[in-house]
Amino acid sequence: MRAGQRGRTGVRTGLLATVCLSAVVAGCAGPAGPGGPKSAPAPPAAEPAAARQAAAPALLPGLARQEEETGSEAVARQEAAVRTALEAAHRWGLAQPPLKAPPRPATRPELRSVTGVKLKDGRPPVVYRVPTDDKVVFLTVDDGAEKDPEFNRMAAELGIPLSAFVSDYLARENYGYFRDLHAQGVEINNHTINHRNLKILDYDTQRGEICRQQDQLEKQIGVRPRLFRPPYGEYNDDTLRAAGSCGVKAVPMWNEEAFPDHMEWRYDDQKLHPGDIILTHFRGTDIWKASMPDLLSKVLNDVTAQGFALARLDDYL
Ligand SMILES: [Zn+2]
Repeated sequence: MRAGQRGRTGVRTGLLATVCLSAVVAGCAGPAGPGGPKSAPAPPAAEPAAARQAAAPALLPGLARQEEETGSEAVARQEAAVRTALEAAHRWGLAQPPLKAPPRPATRPELRSVTGVKLKDGRPPVVYRVPTDDKVVFLTVDDGAEKDPEFNRMAAELGIPLSAFVSDYLARENYGYFRDLHAQGVEINNHTINHRNLKILDYDTQRGEICRQQDQLEKQIGVRPRLFRPPYGEYNDDTLRAAGSCGVKAVPMWNEEAFPDHMEWRYDDQKLHPGDIILTHFRGTDIWKASMPDLLSKVLNDVTAQGFALARLDDYL
């Protein structure tokens, strides 16, 4: 069953709402444990230029203001917000409402690149984990084969920030789908024209793959992305030089890959860490035997259970 079909059956107001309404107000929506060992072997990254208090995810919009506001109107508004979030979570089959990311950082963290890659002559940094202490992770969705409007609806109703990395050869049959995603706040980023392994191509061909997709996304969607991800995560110095020449500011990779039934982890501790980037794909039942909403449900349940919120990648990189 697809999550959207579950959604159309309407919202029950029984056990889940009764249990969770009080529990949510008490802050039961996820453990607030540490994000993982500081010694995790992520590629090195600089601390934020401006030191900033680590921010924890808030449960829901408005709840952070609870202490400042008094009176029955404020309480009623907060309860309505909780109810709306619970109903949306229930509609989409989530164990609990997703946590809301803290406000975006005032300044983007200063980035260093992975070991062995020199940041010279405008080469953008390659980033596996965003340098932040915020309890946020980032969901990135690649390629563009599956174009499921239920996925858009689910993300919109739950207020989930996403970052798409779009390859023209899959998107060109229906750029309208990605325009719709962009209109609802999803970042649209560059994943080349033809999704080739860039490492085996010469500089000029690589530059064509990247720069032409910048042009195409600007023409089709009205964005000229700051972020670019090479297909298969394969790149060399020419890739970074070419990307920099097309206006790319950062090259985000990933530490986890999400599937509808499991997560693949780069590191053995099998935990999310602040700033982790999660990869998934626009895929559907033909490959996964599950839908995009099924995938998003799995990711949100995992992320929330570990006390994290999804955040916008472009706010941090
Ligand atoms: Zn790809």
